[in-house]
Amino acid sequence: MRQRHPATAPSEHLVIVGNGMAGHRLVEALLARPERPARITVIGAETTPAYNRILLSPLLAGEMEREALTLRDAAWYAEQGIELVLGERVETIDRSARRLATDADRELDYDRLVLATGSHPARPPVPGLELPGVHVFRDLNDADALARAAERGSNAVVIGGGLLGLEAAEGLRKRGMQVSLLQRDDRLMNRQLDLTAARLLEKELRGRGLDIHTAAQLERLEADVDGQVCAALLGDGTRLAADCVVVAIGIVPNTALARSAGLEVNRGVVVDEWLTTSDPSIHALGECCEFEGQTYGLVEPIWRQVEVLAERLCRPDAEGAQGYTEKPTATKLKVSGVSLYAFGPTDPEPGGHEVLSYRDPQQGDYRRLLLRDGRLEGAVLYGDTASGPWYFEQALAGRDLTPCRPALLLGAADAQLLLDDALNESPQSPAKEAA
Ligand SMILES: Cc1cc2nc3c(=O)[nH]c(=O)nc-3n(C[C@H](O)[C@H](O)[C@H](O)COP(=O)(O)OP(=O)(O)OC[C@H]3O[C@@H](n4cnc5c(N)ncnc54)[C@H](O)[C@@H]3O)c2cc1C
Repeated sequence: MRQRHPATAPSEHLVIVGNGMAGHRLVEALLARPERPARITVIGAETTPAYNRILLSPLLAGEMEREALTLRDAAWYAEQGIELVLGERVETIDRSARRLATDADRELDYDRLVLATGSHPARPPVPGLELPGVHVFRDLNDADALARAAERGSNAVVIGGGLLGLEAAEGLRKRGMQVSLLQRDDRLMNRQLDLTAARLLEKELRGRGLDIHTAAQLERLEADVDGQVCAALLGDGTRLAADCVVVAIGIVPNTALARSAGLEVNRGVVVDEWLTTSDPSIHALGECCEFEGQTYGLVEPIWRQVEVLAERLCRPDAEGAQGYTEKPTATKLKVSGVSLYAFGPTDPEPGGHEVLSYRDPQQGDYRRLLLRDGRLEGAVLYGDTASGPWYFEQALAGRDLTPCRPALLLGAADAQLLLDDALNESPQSPAKEAA
């Protein structure tokens, strides 16, 4: 779907559905522009004003206070002249009347609407998932419920060995629980890590006391006489005690509202490069949207969407405006004491990638770079990750790293020196000419 539509006039009433990370960031971006819409209303289903969802992991681990997560409080919204409606879920959108209704029977007219409804945790089709004691890890209420569960019980089972599952497992372990972690794949963080880095991570986490099961098939969850979850049964007959189970196998975009309004929805709400849905008056961004078949689970691309949409809403006729384009994203794990940085493919393409790797078992360092024609396409760093952002920058720029190849695995400082030398020695370089 590619289309260019007339965009909003600054005098219009803009309604943002969802006061999560994308919805809030959009508000900040709009306020930074003098041409911001005259009237902005934000409606959020959660009762708390927008908070930093990323920090739920350190909150669960007891490393952070709840107040530290708040992005802006309700008073700030009021001071900015923005109407903030919390604890209400938008249930219907009447597109022909440009009117929406919430589950509290509030009706609101809009000129332009932004859907920033995020996503919800995916649930595997496993018997017992509906039992009391089975949790997800998405919002403040979930973090509270997990902290309470950790006070009551001693055994937890976390389903999912990706970023979220690992952070939940570590959080519960730090709260004193015996935690078993189930990963269907044969390695942890299989979307980000190669086997070597995944094994290093596994060894580290096992050393801390996590009971990790890779290539695990969860058959069902069992209940005790009170109907409370009490165990997880695996395909190989293993039975793991569980006072509490956390499901962290992935996320599903929240599209029900868009779908019921008749917008084009695939896995997410389909948008074009201007974050416009199939209705020119309605935009979508963040984890609820889908662009060129891609859906989202990290904030970095969402921040870029915010900038594109804010610009579009405030300066619809701006010359040379840039639409949203897809770019690679780097991943970090927020488990204290573990440093990981990764981007690009997890495994080399046979015949396509050249692999450079370095390992220092004593220091616990591991680096693996994937190069194609001298250009960096992927990196996995474990231990010393300081050069991660530099590698990522080189990959994004598509820079030919052949001149610094001998120092490439040593890290940013050494490699950059060689790159600079090569640039200075190049016959066309201004430095050479000046000399
Ligand atoms: C524990 C945890 C750790 C994470 N760590 C990282 C990390 O380290 N790095 C990273 O990049 N990302 C991380 N993420 C992901 C990141 O938080 C999300 O990508 C980001 O929050 C997405 O923003 P969003 O606004 O699209 O969705 P959300 O932040 O989920 O906001 C959506 C909001 O819309 C509301 N809503 C939904 N439907 C309606 C409706 N019909 N009416 C009104 N309101 C509605 C929801 O209640 C919610 O408040 C983490 C996520 C979690 C849960």
